Amino acid sequence: MKVRCLGARGSIPVSGPQFVRYGGDTSCIEIVSQGGGRLILDAGTGIRVLGCEMAAQSRREATILFSHFHWDHIQGLPFFKPLYNPTTRLRLAGPRGVDVLRVLSRALRPPFFPVALDQVPCAISTPQWQGDTLEAEGLLVRRIACSHPNKGAGFRVEEGGASLVYLTDNELSLRHRGGLAFDEYVAFCQGADLLIHDTEYTPEEYPQRRGWGHSHFLDAARLAREAGVKTLALFHHNQERTDDDQDALLERCRESLARPGDPQCLALRQGLEMELLG
Ligand SMILES: [Zn+2]
Ligand SMILES: [Zn+2]
Repeated sequence: MKVRCLGARGSIPVSGPQFVRYGGDTSCIEIVSQGGGRLILDAGTGIRVLGCEMAAQSRREATILFSHFHWDHIQGLPFFKPLYNPTTRLRLAGPRGVDVLRVLSRALRPPFFPVALDQVPCAISTPQWQGDTLEAEGLLVRRIACSHPNKGAGFRVEEGGASLVYLTDNELSLRHRGGLAFDEYVAFCQGADLLIHDTEYTPEEYPQRRGWGHSHFLDAARLAREAGVKTLALFHHNQERTDDDQDALLERCRESLARPGDPQCLALRQGLEMELLG
């Protein structure tokens, strides 16, 4: 599978010369299967650019998985051009027990946006999960509950021997209502090629923001190590984190993963592409 980051910022989009390298758009990851199926993780503002690309393509079909419905994970959806093309086919899914279309319809409607979701011309459906397992776009998806205010979901995506885990807006040091224990996240991430995890804070910042639903990088590094993942990708960068500050955070995270056999570590940036072969 091919993986592309279209937005790595958390909470609110940012712009300015201090945010050029990591980018300012909010959460959006594109995964393309070997057969060309397209899975999109979250519809933060990063999805806009993908929509422009898809608008120029003949095949406009995708599954969008929403981790949850905080603004930074849905805000790009109204500006996703394929929504307005009747030949587009979208499948939308999210956390367990949530009616995705109903929740999104409450945000995509006047007076918040001039077009209501049930008025867009594209074909929208909701796929059928088997418990917490879904086959979508030629990929096998598994789902887990996140520890976050208002709940959320993480996803493990597999194809052949390759695996990616997307766990954002997940506070590993505190169990929110509906969230799970640390060991359950370790089991879910076991042996993944790539773990994309919320690393919004430094350990020094975290105590002031405990309970806000996000992790500091040492907790994410511990999860990656205990789960034996190959690469940890830092994600959901704080809106105040400049490029230089993010470099420093990444360096500290790498220093914490310096034992033999520890995971590699990188910080996701907008535009970064990689291929997972398993
Ligand atoms: Zn978020
Ligand atoms: Zn959130």
